[in-house]
Amino acid sequence: MKREANCIFCKIAAGEVPCFKVYEDASTLAFMDINPANEGHCLAIAKGHFEDIYAAGTGEVGKVAETAAKVARAVREVVKPAGLNLIQANGPGAAQSVPHFHIHILPRRLGDELKINWGLKPGNRAAIAILAEKIRAKIG
Ligand code: AMP
Ligand code: ZN
Repeated sequence: MKREANCIFCKIAAGEVPCFKVYEDASTLAFMDINPANEGHCLAIAKGHFEDIYAAGTGEVGKVAETAAKVARAVREVVKPAGLNLIQANGPGAAQSVPHFHIHILPRRLGDELKINWGLKPGNRAAIAILAEKIRAKIG
């Protein structure tokens, strides 16, 4: 599996940096975003290091999308949002801040006025941990 020495998501995938994991399979991992734009914000990542959608093969993108779909269903059950966006950034013009392929599972509230570049603000870790447990339980 491809790996980049200084990549935070590679370290999370290897278990070297902790995360609030909600799902894992052979080639993908999903965990809570620690700077949630809304309650229940999760990320689905490839375990291998691919900088963006261009570096990842279409098969790899498909696997991460499958994981994102599983997580989206669980997030909907737990958070009961008014809507949900899947968002995926590639390159600085798209405000990609972690150059390791990932898909945001982003629950939406009516009137939250979120912009695509929503900005990163640390969330409450205790609250995130509780949500992670509930979402993980729904995926099974
Ligand atoms: P992007 O800006 O689209 O590349 O998204 C990267 C996301 O990763 C941001 O929403 C960050 O909040 C999130 N993030 C960065 N480091 C971590 C981490 N250690 N654990 C969980 N989420 C992270
Ligand atoms: Zn990486």
